[in-house]
Amino acid sequence: MGFINAEKRNFFNEVRERSGQPIELCYQCQKCASGCIATQYADYYPNEIIRMLQFGQIDRVLNCSSIWICSSCETCGARCPNGINVAEVMDALKEMAIARGIIKEKKINLFHNVFLNSVRSHGRVHEGSMMAIYKLKSGDLMSDLDIGWQMFKKGKMPLLPHRIKARGKLKNIFNKTSSNSYHSTVKPGVDPGGKAGDKGLIAYRPQDECKS
Ligand code: SF4
Ligand code: SF4
Repeated sequence: MGFINAEKRNFFNEVRERSGQPIELCYQCQKCASGCIATQYADYYPNEIIRMLQFGQIDRVLNCSSIWICSSCETCGARCPNGINVAEVMDALKEMAIARGIIKEKKINLFHNVFLNSVRSHGRVHEGSMMAIYKLKSGDLMSDLDIGWQMFKKGKMPLLPHRIKARGKLKNIFNKTSSNSYHSTVKPGVDPGGKAGDKGLIAYRPQDECKS
């Protein structure tokens, strides 16, 4: 695609490489948007995200809420006639935004990190401790208490975590994916062509909590 400067071209190519999606093929049929379950909460439709990428609108796309609100349901990918899974694009954009310190939806990022830390510790989510940590860190102490109490009464929120046996193997998976997944290969002013994993990485650690 033709871009007016190298930064926009690099950005587009990085999104394409990270997501593995042929975003240059999008012709705005909007089939993704018409099936998207998140449009009523998001600031842009999925097809608009792709269009912004094609126009090199880096700041706009990294500062939007849509990339955080996307639930990765992959309906868009199933509907796209050009095989573009927008969920993968959203994931790539989230990683790139985090690497630049841009976190539009701080509570969503916090929830994501607390969830992952719970899985890392126990091998599966322990809902009780996860929600307690999330609420303390977010300051959102009072919401959903009634739902939490109902879940507790029905045995859906046990007091003690159930840990898996192979936590060592799980740790290895986390270590591997932490170094490969949450990073940026952006090197300002350098033409595309670098591979994920090259030098110039900006590491993001899942244990990094956002400051609400
Ligand atoms: S369904 Fe595919 S081609 Fe159509 S607007 Fe969405 S991403 Fe573009
Ligand atoms: S994966 Fe995200 S963008 Fe795609 S349909 Fe689901 S919520 Fe919408």
